[in-house]
Amino acid sequence: MTANEMTSTMAYLTRVLKMPTIARVWAELAEQARAGGWSHEDYLSAVLSRQVADREASGTAMRVAGAHFPHVKTLEDFNTDHQPSLRRDVLAHLASTAFVAKAENVILLGPPGVGKTHLAIGLGIKAVQAGYPVLFDTATNWVARLTAAHNTGTLDRELKRLRRYRLLIIDEVGYIPFDHDAANLFFQLVASRYEQGSIMVTSNLPFGRWGETFSDDIVAAAMIDRLVHHAEVITLAGDSYRTRSRRELLAANTAK
Ligand code: ADP
Ligand code: MG
Repeated sequence: MTANEMTSTMAYLTRVLKMPTIARVWAELAEQARAGGWSHEDYLSAVLSRQVADREASGTAMRVAGAHFPHVKTLEDFNTDHQPSLRRDVLAHLASTAFVAKAENVILLGPPGVGKTHLAIGLGIKAVQAGYPVLFDTATNWVARLTAAHNTGTLDRELKRLRRYRLLIIDEVGYIPFDHDAANLFFQLVASRYEQGSIMVTSNLPFGRWGETFSDDIVAAAMIDRLVHHAEVITLAGDSYRTRSRRELLAANTAK
């Protein structure tokens, strides 16, 4: 085969196989292989590895977009010095995403500004990078979504559809109280995922006050029971990171 024939053959084959990375790298890697005296097997594996790496990266990018995070926050950007009570080994274990594989839950409790949403997004991104589909929304939006499904008689279908997400993140439970119907829908969501798929919840309220938010102590207790049966419960404490950074800035400026 001439070099031109080879190029057009490879263009055709990689198009049929939907492997555009190989189309881009095969010739250059062949040069390297000849120069480096690679075996045929080494060359083949190098070419395929590049394709797989690109496919995984674009899969991750698609899942990040599909997760609807409100913004990108990483665990690496989370300053654990500000949360001395947060156990590093627990955080490292959660970052390994083993809890998603086991359909376990994570509950992040604490006052406003202590980094609950930041941690939820950071852990969600870890799960996405590990290949799991994740979906993030606020508790209010989750209830709106479930109410809409309920009103059109498609709640079961919606709950089933949500099961293809291995991790659902429910942010800000407790900021806005739910009426009885909303609380029941929320309960159904939790019940439908019990031991099937992970849920991560953030809340500014301790469990003892969830009855207020769900306007029903019994529904709240039943929900907490299922949520925490297989769960890591993390309580963050301290001042708001926002106001602390502001205070530190002010202090630094007045010191000058
Ligand atoms: P919460 O959800 O608990 O109200 P957020 O996660 O929204 O708090 O945190 C408020 C802001 O402070 C965000 O911009 C977040 O990135 C930042 N933040 C909070 N805690 C930390 C931390 N320990 N390290 C780095 N940034 C933090
Ligand atoms: Mg928050």
